[in-house]
Amino acid sequence: MAVEVRYPPAPSELKLHLGFFSTEDRDGPSNDNDDRKRNQLVHHGQNGHLQPHHRDGETTPSARPQAHHLAHRIREIKDYQLTHGKLLKVLPLDFPTRCHSINLGVSASPTPFPQHLFTQALHLQELMNELYMRVASDSDWLGTVLGPLLEHDDMLRTLWDINCKVREAKGGSEVSCGIFRSDYMLQQPEAGQEVSLKQVEMNTFSCAGACHAEKVPLVEAVLPSLPPLPINTASITHTLTAAYKAYQPHNIPSRKPCILIPIQPHNFNVADELPFVHALWNVGLPTYRCEWQDLLSLTTLTPELNLLYHPPNSTGTGREVAIIFYRAGYDAAEYASKAGKATRLRLEMSRAIKCPDVRGHLAGMKAVQQALAQPRMLELFLQDSEDIAKLRATFMSMQPLSTPSATALQITQAPQEAEHYVLKANREGGGHNIYGAEIPAFLASLPSKQEWSRYILMRLIEPPKDINGLLLLDEEVYEGPVVSELGVLGGAVWRSCQEGRGVEVLENEGLGWTFKSKPWDVKGMNVVRGLQLPSAQEQEGLEQEPQPPFMSFCRNISLWSLEDDRMS
Ligand code: ADP
Ligand code: MG
Repeated sequence: MAVEVRYPPAPSELKLHLGFFSTEDRDGPSNDNDDRKRNQLVHHGQNGHLQPHHRDGETTPSARPQAHHLAHRIREIKDYQLTHGKLLKVLPLDFPTRCHSINLGVSASPTPFPQHLFTQALHLQELMNELYMRVASDSDWLGTVLGPLLEHDDMLRTLWDINCKVREAKGGSEVSCGIFRSDYMLQQPEAGQEVSLKQVEMNTFSCAGACHAEKVPLVEAVLPSLPPLPINTASITHTLTAAYKAYQPHNIPSRKPCILIPIQPHNFNVADELPFVHALWNVGLPTYRCEWQDLLSLTTLTPELNLLYHPPNSTGTGREVAIIFYRAGYDAAEYASKAGKATRLRLEMSRAIKCPDVRGHLAGMKAVQQALAQPRMLELFLQDSEDIAKLRATFMSMQPLSTPSATALQITQAPQEAEHYVLKANREGGGHNIYGAEIPAFLASLPSKQEWSRYILMRLIEPPKDINGLLLLDEEVYEGPVVSELGVLGGAVWRSCQEGRGVEVLENEGLGWTFKSKPWDVKGMNVVRGLQLPSAQEQEGLEQEPQPPFMSFCRNISLWSLEDDRMS
């Protein structure tokens, strides 16, 4: 059952979508958006009060905050967000001296998550870090997995070429840093079955959401039921500091080396980026952000492969860079020009410690995740059979499309076979997945079958269908069944041995977590989506129509409670 209630205050209309299950209605909601719309009723509140009603006119269940309490809570949450920088910039309104922003989508009430699975996910992180340190150190294995995919994937080929050039020139740093985020969803195909934890993906590059996740609106109504907040920014700063200490300064200018953060221009999610800069300065580490397209002109590489950063309008020899903490360089558009490729090559060639270096970046490709899920692969990197079993238990079945099996071929051909799968490209940043029945038509639309090799197939996780949430979305309040994702942050610093899988671990720890929820019928999970990058033509100095920056949907962040009773 679903109801829509309108909340009058101008200028924007706030809608309340209600989608409760009655006890007889346990099969879960339809995946069909139209169904949801058909079931909505509109009820106009009076005097600015929310008046949620069921479709049949019943009053709403008492567990839900009453309309005026909800309106009050929403006001409190918005005030909290405003005063804690839980905001996104509205780029089209970026006036010379004024910065406009909107608050991020959040929950208005905690979403339950099983305590034991939360603990399990946290405990897995050091092992996950170790696995990815070893994978990222093993160029030969990465070559076996990614080599067959290079021909039809420009960005992958660019990154792989850079890796080879750095290796041939014996450049780069033997110390690497990783800030990882392993994402999980709950799996419970049928009501009553045991709930388990399944990995959605492992992020190794520019993991988002860490700063937002620690700013949970601590409004009175939800305070008592929240678990302790993570301290993500400080923990990530700790890992970067450990990497900084591992850097051997060349000391060309006799000043402290700095941390360089390559960033994307026009980033509307600065509230998830700038806190790192402040935190690093606060622990005494000079830290500079530099936009991707300016890196070539603002850096130089010495014959000894020291990277020097020359802040705009500065004079002198520049600052030696100890750490490169990438927040840009994951989008294919950033490598579309020669300048983009040269930028990454220069950074990678340098002695600076990268977070992550190009091999760490490659290790985060979906094709690597798929390869690791194959039998006997984890054994190449980890010794302990119990550890291996623990990680493997979180993996979903995945299929390559470079050499499709008979099963994969069936999935790619028939919509009803494809229904349980998601098609994923080796890309970061969200929005590249194709879901379920749309897969065959999408694959058929590609110019050739060779192009299929850019994708992998992953079995869809089937989350519990009866977890309700209360989400403040862009312009509406959604109340109804939700799907949540727990992201566990990990930090690692390691020294790769010359060849093979050996690593000397300098730092390995779980750092914190993020938690996001979305309405049941939303397939992807992009907390923030939308980039405005200078196109290749702009970078080459050609005229180009300005592209409107777009701000797409924000799903809610971090309001949740740990519960085992309800969910076991
Ligand atoms: P990216 O974040 O790089 O776009 P993800 O693998 O995280 O790629 O997929 C994006 C979103 O799609 C996830 O956050 C999740 O909501 C959904 N998703 C991805 N894989 C699965 C899966 N196997 N089962 C269910 N949902 C999935
Ligand atoms: Mg993701």
